[in-house]
Formats: sequence, structure tokens, C-alpha cells
Amino acid sequence: MHWRERLQALFGERAQFQGDVLSEHGRDGGASAGFGPFLHTRPSAVVWPESAGEVIELVRIAAEAGVPLVPRGGATSPWGGALPVRGGIAVNFSRMARVLEVDPTTQTVTVEPGVTWNRVEEALLAHSLALRLLPTSAPRSTVGGWVAEDGAGLGSYQYGYLHSNLQSVEMVTATGETLRSAGNDLRLVCGLEGITGLITRVTLKVAREAPLSVWALAYLSQAELIRALHLVFDSDWPLWHVAFRNAEASNEAPVGANRHGFADDMGILVLMSRDPDRHALDAQVDALARFTGGRVLAPHQAVAEWDDRFAAMESSLVIPGALQRRLVLPRYGLTPLVEDLAELQHPVALQGVGVMGEEVAVHAFAPSFLSRRQAERALATLEERVGRYGGHPYSIGLLRAHEAARILGPRQMRELIAWKKRYDPRHLLNPGKVLPSPGISWRVRAALAWSHVVGTPGPAAVPSRPEGERVRPETRVS
Ligand SMILES: Cc1cc2nc3c(=O)[nH]c(=O)nc-3n(C[C@H](O)[C@H](O)[C@H](O)COP(=O)(O)OP(=O)(O)OC[C@H]3O[C@@H](n4cnc5c(N)ncnc54)[C@H](O)[C@@H]3O)c2cc1C
Repeated sequence: MHWRERLQALFGERAQFQGDVLSEHGRDGGASAGFGPFLHTRPSAVVWPESAGEVIELVRIAAEAGVPLVPRGGATSPWGGALPVRGGIAVNFSRMARVLEVDPTTQTVTVEPGVTWNRVEEALLAHSLALRLLPTSAPRSTVGGWVAEDGAGLGSYQYGYLHSNLQSVEMVTATGETLRSAGNDLRLVCGLEGITGLITRVTLKVAREAPLSVWALAYLSQAELIRALHLVFDSDWPLWHVAFRNAEASNEAPVGANRHGFADDMGILVLMSRDPDRHALDAQVDALARFTGGRVLAPHQAVAEWDDRFAAMESSLVIPGALQRRLVLPRYGLTPLVEDLAELQHPVALQGVGVMGEEVAVHAFAPSFLSRRQAERALATLEERVGRYGGHPYSIGLLRAHEAARILGPRQMRELIAWKKRYDPRHLLNPGKVLPSPGISWRVRAALAWSHVVGTPGPAAVPSRPEGERVRPETRVS
């Protein structure tokens, strides 16, 4: 039987082979905007599995027929990780979206991969628990998608990167085997965008829920903002989340934040704590502002910063993948980086989160008033400087696969290549992602060069993304 017939027999209506749904699965949160004629990202089929057992069957059918499988969560990743570049079957996990077990004793939650982060938070709150960390794409992005991407987000100041907060992950390899990873083995799952396996179940470590206190400080001087950030990093304040953005990011609302407009032309430092003693921190934040020339924003303005945490996700604007960067930088690289940026001819919008007081995870994007050429030049300089100060890009996806060796380093590359030889020698799982693929890498470069020549401008001109979920967990904030 042909693989399509086998899928039809197994999945019925949950396997589709034609229509708009195929084109929809050829788009994502940024990379697909402006690819032009060089890169076709339409799958040959879309399948919606409902259980790990069905995923195993699906993998067997695809493997026997030699058809690629491309996992897809909320498709918010801007680096093309969820795009099918060799046709094949898009595996849409939206019907594997259950919260399976909340365990208050061990403080863990076990979920299926297609559940959104906000849904998990909502389920946890009913048990007086909360996520340790979540991405600012939480209304739409899925647990499986973020595990496959890895990264930092809200809460990373206290809890670090996502991979440090996973109890275990189950995935189905291209051979149809189910592997359960924990501890150090998670390095063969996290950040690898599904090329080692389709994630079918995740157990997350979670925390006790406690009300959040929020402070926001405004700065006219970028240097003072960074000085304040260092002082916070050096302190022993019990903070859950530390975020900052420069004035250019404030002015790019709502792609940046500042939806209410009271932070125009100002850099912002946001501090959040779950510590019950808010008053002790009130006094320290006041002292910090006095010492660094910042202004403590009114409580309702600070709370608005929290309310705006998903503003970029909930807006319909999309930044093309080529016009943004996600980078990790040791904290001491930040001061020289910001000094260098001040010298640049064209500014860059910068927003970042502190990761355990050691590093900053930075999201940089081009302000919408720059031309494509200016934006690319500014971002290329930024990335070069980040490298100079000990940082590196993260999230490889499709767009950066040709730089995988540099980003992953020789050891992880060797390990990954050995894994692929053992489990997926034909590269059926998400081909073209993370590991460079000769037939695809040149197309990506050509597509990027094409969009450069055609000159798609900044964020506002890019087609809108589909509606995200409007789940808003009722976190207690003051
Ligand atoms: C507005 C906005 C805010 C963001 N904020 C953050 C942030 O705070 N921190 C951060 O790190 N990133 C952030 N991102 C990037 C992105 O949203 C995250 O990486 C996100 O978690 C990806 O989840 P997703 O469900 O959308 O995955 P997708 O985009 O669908 O997929 C991402 C990758 O995971 C793979 N994948 C998906 N599901 C599975 C599965 N079940 N098994 C195996 N592989 C799978 C896909 O093939 C792809 O390679 C943001 C993006 C946007 C647009």
C-alpha cells in the first residue's frame, strides 16, 4: 500500500493531502516571510496524531517509504525549524495537548507536547503551583516546541535555561523506538529541533505558586541601565525574573513592549520577585534608582509591564527571521557591547533577560524605520561584537544550520552526527534543520540573498500571523 493510503487508513480525516492546510503548514513565525522562489516549504501531507502510539505508527510508515517528518508545535519559532524543506509529512501536535498529571508532592507536571505554556500554567494554578519559567510566546508556543528549541524566558533569572528544568522527555526516534531522556542525556533532545526524535511526553519541574511583585525602572542613559543591571546581578535579591530593553525596543511597541507608551525613548529594567517581603525590596529598588539615575515607575506602570509580557505574541506583527537574532552573552560582555552599539550608524532594538545572574539571553531586532540593508548590516555587526565578547547565537533552526559547527562546537557535533548515523541515517527527521544539508543550505542562502535584493522592509510590512490562544492564567501580581 502507498504511504498516503496507509496514513489515510490510520488517521482518516486527521491526514490531509491537499488544500490550504498544506500551505499553512509551510509558514511559521518569521523565517518563511520573504523566501521567494528558492525555497519551497509546502509539505506533501499534514497529520494530527492523538497519542504516542500513533506517532510510532506514523514514524514506521514514513521510514518504510523514506518520507521526511517535520514536527510542528505553535510554529512561533522564527528560524524555520518547523518548515518542511524537503516536502514530507508535517506532524501537527495540536491534538496531543493534554496535561496528563500534576504532582504537587514532587512538584512536577507531565504533559503531551502540543499543549501551550499558558494552558499548563492554568492547570498548575489550580493546584497552587506555577511554571518555573515560560517563553514570552506562551499563548501560542507549545511545550514540545520549546523543549526542541530550548531557551530562556520569564523566570530564567532564578531557574536558568529550560533544559535545566526538565525532569524527563520521551521521544520516538526515526527507528520507531521510544527513548526516555533525563539529566545529561537531555542534551540529545533539547535545542535539536526534533532531528533526534519526535517528542511525545514531557515532565517539567515546577514551583509553588506565590504572588509576584513587579518593579520597573526607566533610564534615559543606556550605560546607566546596564550599570543597574550589573548591580542587580551582584546583589542577593530574591528575584525570579530580570529583564531589560533599550530605548529602541521600547519605541518598537508592540513588537518590543511598552504598549501603553509611557516608556517612549527610555530603556527599561524590570524586576520580579515571588518573595513575600515586598517592602524590603521596595527600599532596595528605590536605592538602586537613586544610585544609577533611574526613575522607579509607578506601581500600575510596573504591572503594565507584566501585562505586556505577551504583547509581541498577541500582536499580528511578525519580524522576519533574518531581521532578528537570539544571542547569549556572558554578563560582562554587555557593557562593551552596549558601548559599541552606541557607535553604530544604525541602532538595534535590544531586549534581554538575565540568566541566573551569569549570562544574558538577548533578543535583538531591527527597528522598523531601517531599510532591509541597514538592518542586516546593523545586526551583522551586533552579532560579530557578541562573538567578540564571548557570546554566541542560539536557536539554529533552518536559517543558521550552515553555522551549526560553530554554534554547537566540535564535541556536540560529533555526538550528533554519530546519533544520526545510528538512528536516522537518511535524515528523515526534520531534514535541513540544525545539521547542514548540502541540497538545502545553498537554497537557504539564495533565499536570504533574494529577500535582501528584493528588500522586504521591517516588521510592520510582514503578513500577520494567525491568532494565538487568549488563555491568560490568573497570576497574582502587584
Ligand atoms: C513573540 C515571540 C516571543 C518569543 N519568546 C521567546 C522566549 O521568551 N524565549 C525563547 O527561547 N524563545 C522565544 N520565542 C521563540 C519561540 O517562540 C520559542 O522557541 C517557542 O517555544 C517555540 O515553540 P513552538 O511550539 O512555537 O514551536 P515550533 O515553532 O512549532 O517548533 C520549534 C522547533 O521545534 C520542533 N518541534 C515542535 N514540536 C516538536 C515535537 N513534539 N517534537 C520534536 N520537535 C518538535 C519544530 O520542528 C521546530 O524545529 C519567541 C517567539 C516569538 C514569536
